[in-house]
Amino acid sequence: KLHNTILELKGNIRVFCRVRPLLSDDCASSETKVVSYPTTTEALERGIELTQNGQTHCFMFDKVFTADAPQKDVFVEISQLVQSALDGYKVCIFAYGQTGSGKTHTMMGKPGSPDQKGLMPRSLEQIFETRQALQPQGWKYEMQVSMLEIYNENIRDLLSTNSSRTDNGVAGKQYAIKHDTNGNTHVSDLTVVDVRSSKEVSYLLDRAAQSRSVGKTQMNEQSSRSHFVFTMRISGTNVSTDQQVQGILNLIDLAGSERLSKSGSTGDRLKETQAINKSLSSLSDVIFALAKKEEHVPFRNSKLTYLLQPCLGGDSKTLMFVNLSPDPASVGESLCSLRFAARVN
Ligand code: ADP
Ligand code: MG
Repeated sequence: KLHNTILELKGNIRVFCRVRPLLSDDCASSETKVVSYPTTTEALERGIELTQNGQTHCFMFDKVFTADAPQKDVFVEISQLVQSALDGYKVCIFAYGQTGSGKTHTMMGKPGSPDQKGLMPRSLEQIFETRQALQPQGWKYEMQVSMLEIYNENIRDLLSTNSSRTDNGVAGKQYAIKHDTNGNTHVSDLTVVDVRSSKEVSYLLDRAAQSRSVGKTQMNEQSSRSHFVFTMRISGTNVSTDQQVQGILNLIDLAGSERLSKSGSTGDRLKETQAINKSLSSLSDVIFALAKKEEHVPFRNSKLTYLLQPCLGGDSKTLMFVNLSPDPASVGESLCSLRFAARVN
């Protein structure tokens, strides 16, 4: 048995692994199980093993969710993190993995099914419930959301009411990213909406989904080839103590991490792949540099890392979900995802 490495990212960065169930579409005809879980005490609920060509690779994370983990159990593990955004922290939660591995299921879940709600709707409900609960203590909170997509290193505003579609990064708006000295990020021309309830946010999420699908018909399967970034700014003031807090919650459904077939990817497809590779490897570089407390953190190497810069360093908190498919046909991609997360290469 080959123990690849044990990664323990220190400080404010945590990595959770989640395996989705086998689906009827998977080529599960083969009896071979590629995902297994070590049973030693120290690896319990933290270890995962992947077997490829008879070789077993073992990885450790802060937490491993098996295929039968319900959405609510996953949320239990992140609810504290969500809470800290109300306490004034900057929080980023990422979903990383190949297309079909369960990123959107983890983030959004199945619409219309309360049990299957993902961590985004659950987080929003918790935030607004807590706001209500803190009112008697004098806390007043204001929330603002924006939703954008990064495709081919271009930002697209998903809440823009502008009917012209010149904002898809081909021409038109530039969406320049600026950080001020207080650590606030401004994206020029980006729509920012005040929200007072989780219902209002759901409505905006629907609008964003619609905007994404319009883009999808123009550019093939854009949603799996782009990063989706949901941002909620939370400003709290305590009217009796004058205390002030400014927190941010970023929820990011990353572009599919799959490597395209080596041959035959040309033109737009090649450009997309290069943009995705660049931003995912930049993200890995940034998180790794932060975990190692390196002096130079290469935030500027991609739009995604530059946009999120103030929310990644300092005393901000980051959680990365590595989503995995148990399909034997995906074992190569799964190994890549685990290596990405464990930074083994
Ligand atoms: P991705 O966003 O990574 O492309 P999806 O979230 O769309 O992947 O998941 C692919 C399919 O697998 C969807 O049909 C989804 O409903 C299903 N799925 C993913 N994770 C789970 C899970 N934990 N439990 C049940 N079904 C899941
Ligand atoms: Mg998805």
